[in-house]
Amino acid sequence: MLKNKSALVTGSTSGIGLGIVRALSRAGVNVMLNGFGDADAIGRLCRELADAGGGRVAYHAADVRSAAEVAALVAATEQAFGAVDILVNNAGIQFVAPTEDFPEERWDAVLDTVLNASFHAIKAALPGMRRRNWGRIVNLVSVHGLIASPFKSAYVAAKHGQIGLTKTVALEVAETGITCNAVCPGYVLTPLVEGQIDRQAQVHQLPRERVIREVMLAAQPSKRFVEIDDVAALILFLCGDAAKSITGTAIPIDGGWTAR
Ligand code: NAD
Repeated sequence: MLKNKSALVTGSTSGIGLGIVRALSRAGVNVMLNGFGDADAIGRLCRELADAGGGRVAYHAADVRSAAEVAALVAATEQAFGAVDILVNNAGIQFVAPTEDFPEERWDAVLDTVLNASFHAIKAALPGMRRRNWGRIVNLVSVHGLIASPFKSAYVAAKHGQIGLTKTVALEVAETGITCNAVCPGYVLTPLVEGQIDRQAQVHQLPRERVIREVMLAAQPSKRFVEIDDVAALILFLCGDAAKSITGTAIPIDGGWTAR
């Protein structure tokens, strides 16, 4: 059913976004990759995906903090594949500091990368989805869209904002064939989280294994990281026909974190 559809996944050169791209591509979806990284490594990644025999593959280097670059990214995807049928707003960054010490430029960077980029991409992709009367918008949020943790004011505010945006867009397109949902993972072991483990190990003077269990996964009852492939499988399901009545939701995939 998804074969020959076309997807744009922001921030897909690494981590969860790359896992989503791999799953969509295997399902026969044409995928537009986006994100930072070494040009040669990204070229190899595109060839590897294309050689695997799924959908077609392209890459665009837009910095999603810029509204103009997001618009260009959506336009480039439409030009490459004829459509953006599936939009996954996945690009994200983190910065941790007490609110009174939080640097303004870091606040702006997190809000621009997470919340503003999602708005700009949805705004640019919706007209085409409406014309085709079919679309799947998935905002890769976090448990931090549902609950807070200290020292993550920008991230928590941006992720809560993404859920508000998800609900609003879902209501606006409810009578069409377009759905808009938020997926809210707990901790997933990606480069973004690896950086946090290293920092926490220094702060707490603890070995890596204890930082993972006692600090990182303290609030995640399963005491296991969520797997990238499990997040990708949930998104693949949301893109399918069986999920056509699921819209405006924020779905936790968090090892029980938000059950507390
Ligand atoms: P990651 O650091 O592995 O990947 C982030 C991706 O975003 C990279 O491809 C990076 O190049 C790209 N990116 C960053 N800034 C960008 C910009 N300005 N323009 C374009 N691309 C940009 O991180 P990840 O852990 O895979 O996170 C992906 C998403 O999942 C983020 O929105 C994050 O908040 C969310 N998330 C992650 C976790 C987790 O535990 N890892 C949990 C919940 C939610």
